[in-house]
Amino acid sequence: MKVIIIGGVAGGASCAARLRRLDEHAHIILVERGPYVSYANCGLPYHVGGVIEKEAKLLVATESYLRSYFNLDVRSNCEAVAIAPKEKTVRLRNVSTGEEITEAYDRLVLSPGGDAVRPPLPGIDLPGIFPVRTVPDARAIREWVERNGAGGRKSTAVVVGGGFIGLEMAENLVHRGFDVTIVEMLDHVLAPIDTEHAMVVEAHLQAHGVRLAMGDAVASFAKGTTTALEVRTKSGKNYPADVVILALGVRPNASLARMAGLEVGELGGIRVDERMRTGDPDIFAVGDAVEVKDFVTGRWTLIPLAGPANRQGRIVADVIAGRDARFRGTQGTSIIGLFGAAIAWTGASEKTLRRLGDTDWERVFMYPNSHAAYYPGAKPIMMKVIFRRSDGRLLGVQAFGEDGVDKRVSAIAALIQMGATVYDLEESELCYAPQFGSAKDPVNFAGMVASNVMRGDFSVTSWANARDGYVLDVREENEFALEYVAQAVNVPLPQLRARLSELPRDRTINVICKAGLRGYYATRILLQHGFDARVVTGGMLLIARIDPSAVRSTPLPAPK
Ligand code: FAD
Repeated sequence: MKVIIIGGVAGGASCAARLRRLDEHAHIILVERGPYVSYANCGLPYHVGGVIEKEAKLLVATESYLRSYFNLDVRSNCEAVAIAPKEKTVRLRNVSTGEEITEAYDRLVLSPGGDAVRPPLPGIDLPGIFPVRTVPDARAIREWVERNGAGGRKSTAVVVGGGFIGLEMAENLVHRGFDVTIVEMLDHVLAPIDTEHAMVVEAHLQAHGVRLAMGDAVASFAKGTTTALEVRTKSGKNYPADVVILALGVRPNASLARMAGLEVGELGGIRVDERMRTGDPDIFAVGDAVEVKDFVTGRWTLIPLAGPANRQGRIVADVIAGRDARFRGTQGTSIIGLFGAAIAWTGASEKTLRRLGDTDWERVFMYPNSHAAYYPGAKPIMMKVIFRRSDGRLLGVQAFGEDGVDKRVSAIAALIQMGATVYDLEESELCYAPQFGSAKDPVNFAGMVASNVMRGDFSVTSWANARDGYVLDVREENEFALEYVAQAVNVPLPQLRARLSELPRDRTINVICKAGLRGYYATRILLQHGFDARVVTGGMLLIARIDPSAVRSTPLPAPK
């Protein structure tokens, strides 16, 4: 059997190596347009930043390794230019010589990835403007910034796009000593997450010196006067830049598939079934180039991530080798490290559910510690858990913090993939010692809070719904004095039972505290005394982020 794989990086290389392990006799040709196969594009921002100093470290498996260990017929600098499905042939062009040949296949796998979005803006081809997709891209950026020093003043960089690659590049350029501005068309960074977490990420970026220009799109690039470039935005602002990074996302590279008459979906990705098979039974497609089913919403989506690409490549190898493998769909599970913190998410966001007109969901915010509070170094994790109101099924989670974010979101992601509910989260058995977690791990804690809501022990509301109603703040008087919302009545939790007569019985009482725990205790007391009460999820910590104008603070007395 002869198998041609187009695209020799995440999905393609993973498919080729797995197929060899399953079929020692197949002739496997791995075709790659660029000079390198199987390289770590996820490591590129860190090579630019100098964290991964040696370029060679990015080459996960070299061509000679793939040849000698897996007996693969690797053809780098070789571009597939046409597919003839009826004849079962592929036209291959040697990128260096231009020479073309035709190769026949029994099975064909497309893993051509995505094309970096590059809008046709005036000046976009000026020197000093770079995408970050390949090893040569990273090398070009490094060479440019080394050659074009700022001559005594601080170097400046503009990153166009506030997605995960844009943010990673911003962090790495700050590490290199740049003054960085991120220009983003949307009103917040990281489109897949909700506003509350995005605002926290933005504050964290700003605290580390990154400037943000949100809700503004780039209109043009021009040569600068004091810097190599100037970035002009639609709102009329000018940002000087010694280097510009384009991180506007990727579009599925479906051109070959389209030319071959294969189905391409509405989102522009190659359509495949759960075995990653296109409409042609001998042609498969994987990775950034395909549309996949969102595991949570059941809709077609594009998820350009390394995990799904690698798993899909492996599944195709299994299917070609005659095994019954299927892709389960994806949840878009992601994580980004930013200046010592991490933001991670999986599953559906509130924004996505609203866009789809879905109303059968609830969400809770919490701030559990990353490990037992008494053990040094515990840090709060800001978590948002979204679940089905009707049956408690987990839909999504978003988390931000300086410690333990990855394992919590990974654990919940695995549970979501198993179709788990908030009750499963509550009962999950996780490893625990004080330096790693808590006897009630944040994962359990999230399940407990959400399960309490499901069981009707208490209900939650958002600040937007609560702010015009009766607001009861149950924090201590000294906390309230420092920071409060103007409409709140303060009855500290320890005094609540004695002061119930002060509270209205004809109104809904919206209870706030710092993070939610005391609000929950108070709400349980109130409900059992016949009041109509609910917790404002996220408490003052969240209100201060999302509605700072609602928060008053008493200035501290001047030092004597
Ligand atoms: P790719 O890995 O992009 O490989 C496609 C290859 O096909 C390319 O090398 C291309 O040259 C080749 N090709 C295209 N057309 C042809 C043709 N006609 N003939 C021959 N060859 C062709 N994902 C994460 O999950 N976590 C991360 O932290 C992360 N960080 C990233 C950082 C950066 C800077 C980038 C660029 C991506 C990052 N990703 C990350 C995304 C991840 O790398 C991709 O989702 C993954 O590589 C997709 O795999 P793929 O096989 O579909 O495409």
